[in-house]
Amino acid sequence: MRAAHPPPAADTTALSRLLGTALDALREGARARGGPLPAGGPEAVARRVREVLGEPFPETGRGSQEALRTLVRVLAEGAADPADPLCAAHLHTPPLALAAAADLAASALNPSMDSWDQAPAASALEAEVTAALAAEVFPAAPHPDALVTTGGTESNQLALLLARERHGRVTTVVGANAHHSFRRAAWLLGLPEPVVVPTPSGTIDPEALRETLHGAPARTDGGPVLVAATAGTTDGGLIDPLPEIAEVCAGARAELHVDAAYGGPVLFSSVHRRLLDGLDRARTVTVDLHKLGWQPAAAGLLAVRDAADLAVLGHTADYLNADDDTEAGLPDLLGRSLRTTRRPDVLKTAVTLRALGRTGLGALVDRCMELAQDLADRVEKAPGLDLRERPVLTTVLFRPTGADDTTVAAIRRALLAGGRAVLGRAEADGRLWLKATLLNPHATPGDLDRILTLVEGGTHR
Ligand SMILES: *Cc1c(COP(=O)(O)O)cnc(C)c1O
Repeated sequence: MRAAHPPPAADTTALSRLLGTALDALREGARARGGPLPAGGPEAVARRVREVLGEPFPETGRGSQEALRTLVRVLAEGAADPADPLCAAHLHTPPLALAAAADLAASALNPSMDSWDQAPAASALEAEVTAALAAEVFPAAPHPDALVTTGGTESNQLALLLARERHGRVTTVVGANAHHSFRRAAWLLGLPEPVVVPTPSGTIDPEALRETLHGAPARTDGGPVLVAATAGTTDGGLIDPLPEIAEVCAGARAELHVDAAYGGPVLFSSVHRRLLDGLDRARTVTVDLHKLGWQPAAAGLLAVRDAADLAVLGHTADYLNADDDTEAGLPDLLGRSLRTTRRPDVLKTAVTLRALGRTGLGALVDRCMELAQDLADRVEKAPGLDLRERPVLTTVLFRPTGADDTTVAAIRRALLAGGRAVLGRAEADGRLWLKATLLNPHATPGDLDRILTLVEGGTHR
């Protein structure tokens, strides 16, 4: 007898049965892990995966239920789980259930955003939602727009590409606090290495920027310049002084890009949005919704103040957007990305915006901001811990009093190896700090205390 072919995702009865299995496996895996990450470190985890996996591509298949149960379970068991409040190293968000559910629907339908005949409603939805989000970033601009990207790295790269295309060439000026993706983007695009303005205080000093732009033309070659400022540094959650930087840029005829991958969603908070004053003076803005935004990856955006800036991305491939198809009214989507096949990542975001509204999303931002202040208070009160400075966003840098850098690094690794907590590390003031990035609105004061207790326990073992 011929084996039955596996059912397609469109068979929702089959999908629902498999989904039940996947959800059971998620629960079982999380229970087996019992903490924010698996204990034992990389070797133990890799050994466990190899054992369970056996042959990755067997001659005879083991069947859908077994494969799904086994591998989802082992992945969950060995996950660094952002839903655990003690998993707080990176901008690694605990995704919302509704966004994950929407993402499943997106996978099942599998629209591809490179041509209208693969994504009729999805492309229309993307157009509406990106327009609305672009207007959040550039409320006063007549024609803002936004592209959906895989994240801050791709958005920053596109920002440099657009600047290069406006001018033929461009030198990027960044703070020493900027994301590493600018250096790679310049490398990839054949641009000069970014000129780096030192940021000893953690953010760009507008005077130092002015000197770089005016005082030393050799450094920027006297040619076109794109200044990339950061709203939410990856290491410290700090925000460059955007209004002052925008002034300096205007005075030096430099263009401004703001990397708000981390801080951008603060726009949704009526309490905190003033922190982003000046953001709309940028020409382009990077925003990630898979950080503050609670989307499963990927959910990046590049917002542009003027949609006309995107025209250079136009590109024709006859099978996708032949001129006569476009003239006949089929939307031309190929210029919305450098990718071709592209997931409808906008669906989960659209669902989230509709479900929570600005107020609901803003409340999640506010809660994480509160947690960061609370953690900072607790660090200040702990006799054995030093706080780097009061948090601006949701990142708290701290270290045991008197510990050397080697000890700080060792504490972090011991917590990882024990599966007890996932904290990050960051250099500031020439020293190494532990970093807690708080993106979990469900974290409790008790969780914050547990983090600190674990770190304090690590200093006298
Ligand atoms: C996270 C981050 C990026 C990179 O974004 P990805 O989504 O990881 O590609 C860029 N800039 C800043 C400031 C970030 O925090």
